Amino acid sequence: MPGLTLSKLLLLILVVLAAWWLVKGFRRRGAAKGAPEAAPEQMVTCDHCGLYLPRGEAISAGDKFFCCDEHRRLAGPAG
Ligand SMILES: [Zn+2]
Repeated sequence: MPGLTLSKLLLLILVVLAAWWLVKGFRRRGAAKGAPEAAPEQMVTCDHCGLYLPRGEAISAGDKFFCCDEHRRLAGPAG
């Protein structure tokens, strides 16, 4: 085989083995960690109508959440 020396072939095998070992290691590490954190956004309920919505979209008033500003006002006229 011209161009492909034994040292090059050995190097290629070493690279393939290293890559395979790395992939295997990463997979094992990922499996040990378990499922990824499956909570991108906390869900809250509107205190007035009980609608489920992401916390980022909810209007918070104290420790309560509302789906819209109208429901926040209806639930607490003073606040
Ligand atoms: Zn509501």
